Amino acid sequence: MKTRKFTRREVIATTSAGALGTMINWPLTSFGAGSFAKEKLAINGGTKVHSGTWPSWPVWDQSAEKEIIEMLRTGRWWRGSGEHVEEFEKKYAELMGAKRCVATSSGTTALITALGVLGVDAGDEVLVSPYTFIATYNAIFAHKALPVFVDSDPETFLLNPKKIEARITERTSAILPVHIYGLPADMDSINAIAKNSNLKVVEDACQAWLSEYRGKRTGTLGDLGCFSFQNSKHLPAGEGGAIIGNDEDLMDHCHSAHNCGRPYGKMKAAPGYPLRGGNFRMQQSQALILLSQMKRIEKDNDVRLANALYLNKRLKEIPGIVPYKPADGATRAVYHLYPFRYIKEKFNNVPKEKFISALVAEGIPAGGGYNPQNNDGLFEEAFNSRGYKRLFSESRLKQWREENHLPGNDQLCSEAVTFYQSILLGSIKDMEDIVNAITKVYENRDSL
Ligand SMILES: *Cc1c(COP(=O)(O)O)cnc(C)c1O
Repeated sequence: MKTRKFTRREVIATTSAGALGTMINWPLTSFGAGSFAKEKLAINGGTKVHSGTWPSWPVWDQSAEKEIIEMLRTGRWWRGSGEHVEEFEKKYAELMGAKRCVATSSGTTALITALGVLGVDAGDEVLVSPYTFIATYNAIFAHKALPVFVDSDPETFLLNPKKIEARITERTSAILPVHIYGLPADMDSINAIAKNSNLKVVEDACQAWLSEYRGKRTGTLGDLGCFSFQNSKHLPAGEGGAIIGNDEDLMDHCHSAHNCGRPYGKMKAAPGYPLRGGNFRMQQSQALILLSQMKRIEKDNDVRLANALYLNKRLKEIPGIVPYKPADGATRAVYHLYPFRYIKEKFNNVPKEKFISALVAEGIPAGGGYNPQNNDGLFEEAFNSRGYKRLFSESRLKQWREENHLPGNDQLCSEAVTFYQSILLGSIKDMEDIVNAITKVYENRDSL
């Protein structure tokens, strides 16, 4: 089996399949050969397309173990007693092209800290994408603010900037766009609206380590950018997070807020401190794991990108399979999940869940993405709480419920199919198996 090797230059920032496809000699076979029509689907007892394994996650370099054991033996486990967290912050800021970084205990605590430092307060409203991990809105709830959904664009999987302005009220204080799956959101449009309406922008880049928008790293485009290093993420440390930014004063305040409100940097010379704050500090062991993981992320992302562009190119040839469309200005995606849309009408109306089961039976692990979480129980639970009833009028909550119809997001949730990021660390043969399995399911759709 041939394996491909890419230099960084070969996979330079592009999310369009065209450039890469012409640079590398793909073994391209065009769709329509009908090569699987006579085969039985694995779900019906036939032979699987992919019989091997898939890359597992996380992957680590054993040489890092020595440093962790050495640190354990010093007893200097928290950031205040050692140098590793600070070293990580410096290197992460450098990697992201930001001036500063504050490491946190998780992505959730990074979001909570960033929103608080930017002034999001009880009774405020924050505009947010509904197509995201639940932690995004929990960070808004942590401030006793109201998450207000801006509908998704099903083609890009991202918040639709055209739908933002209609949701702004006099209480809106921030926009929290999410670069979901590592696909960059249209930050120029979002920032322009924020500027016009005097809103702060926190980027939820918790799935977007090294994605690029107009050549700049996601997380550096709003007022503050937040990342997660939870075990499943591209840069894993079990748990962990970071805030990055270019404004020294804001970053001093982030450091303070994540460290019990103790003054930091220029704050030290000024009166009035400490402020309110929490303990959201990263531990030394997390930083050591991250310093080691940082050595592989760029190379891994190159492989994911090359494989994703290959899938984009091949999958769009299959009727009813629609790869995501990059948002305006997106120049590099990192694929925490690789997403496409399944149009069941082209598959003889086979439900998405059945299509996914058929793929899984062929040896291709696939998932269905996020559900329409805007209908989850936490919203009513919050709105019926004593605190929210004090902070928001009955008429405002009634209006929220009336506006809680997100046709773009509903369509996206019903059509999305995803592959987890480590699948994209596989070989070209693995990617061909994915294409072949979907082709096989398509050609045998009548038997499902
Ligand atoms: C993982 C994630 C978070 C939260 O990060 P934790 O480190 O798990 O707290 C927030 N937003 C998104 C989009 C995520 O994927």
